[in-house]
This record gives sequence, structure tokens and C-alpha cells, in this order.
Amino acid sequence: MYSLGFTKRIVTFDFFPRSVQKSIVFYGFRRRWTVGIWLNYQKQMMALRPVKNTQNETCIPFGEIRSVEVVGDEYTKTIFGGVGVGSFFGGSAKSEGFNRGLQVRITTGNIRSGTNAYFLNLWEPRLGAKLNKSDPNFKAIQECARSIIDEIEIIIQESQSVEKEHSEREVRQCPYCSEDILATAKKCKHCGEWLEGK
Ligand SMILES: [Zn+2]
Repeated sequence: MYSLGFTKRIVTFDFFPRSVQKSIVFYGFRRRWTVGIWLNYQKQMMALRPVKNTQNETCIPFGEIRSVEVVGDEYTKTIFGGVGVGSFFGGSAKSEGFNRGLQVRITTGNIRSGTNAYFLNLWEPRLGAKLNKSDPNFKAIQECARSIIDEIEIIIQESQSVEKEHSEREVRQCPYCSEDILATAKKCKHCGEWLEGK
């Protein structure tokens, strides 16, 4: 993961206030608290950790991303008095005891290659508190989801406009070597012949 040269990361953890981050680190969840996306603009690649498992990331080329949206918006109170980390923590993982966050869905592929959907679960780790949507930590999750969506929407728009530009460029054949060249080319990039005035 880290050897792949990802330069930008958007992870739920980073959006929480210092005090919450500290308690996550204190309770040893840091390594697992990595649900989010990583971006490599040079390689045009995105890595996803769709679930809590840090070994389970998926790499997706920018050009394959189709859509991004928030699909789950549930936020239940912690009834259980333990550590409110939902499915991250076996002891508190009772269905009604979850602090649920937001779910972001990213779809990839096309009708020729087939499509895929990836789900990023953005959880809230607050300790044993009763929480609601006005809670600052819920706002932190919302902000994280918003950042992911904004970033990916820009990537989708950019790669679509690059694709469009490619398909709109008019191509003709070089009269000397028969390779495809741009209609506006003055010199063939394959054989080096000058084409002007032909
Ligand atoms: Zn040529």
C-alpha cells in the first residue's frame, strides 16, 4: 500500500477532533481505523479500503470510476455502554448498539467489462456516548464522506473530458507510412515525413 506512492489520503480518522483520535490510538484501533481512500495522481490510481480489513485494499484506475454517492445514512444511539466502534469491536457489536456512520458507494467499469460497486463504511468511534446527528463527530464523518465524493467527482469529470477529447480528435492516415496521425499534423510522428500542402 504505502510503497505504491499514494500521495493523498482521505480517511475517517483524520476528520475527528484530536481528543477522539487520541482515544482511538489509546485503545489500539489506529491500525484498523483506516477506512478511506488513497490517491496517486501520477499513476492515476485510487486505492480503496472498503471494509475495516487493512489487508484488503482494491486498486482502481481513475478511468474506470463511474459514480460516487452516499447510500447509507444511519446513525443509531449507543445503547451498549462499551466502546462505540460498531463492528470494529466484537464486544459492542450488537445490532442495536452500533454507532453507524455513512456508507459511500463507488461504482466502476462499463457495460463491456462489467460493473462493480465498492462500499466504504465510515464509522464513528466515540466512547460509550449517546450520539445523534447534531454531534460534532457525526459532522466529522459527513465531512469525510463529502471530501471523498468531491474528490472522486472531480476525477470522474476529468477522465471523462480526457476520453471525450481523445474520441473527438480527428485522425487520418499518413500517405507515406499509413499510420494513424492527427488530421491537423504537419509532420508524421511515425515516419517523420512532412505533410504540409499535401
Ligand atoms: Zn508517416
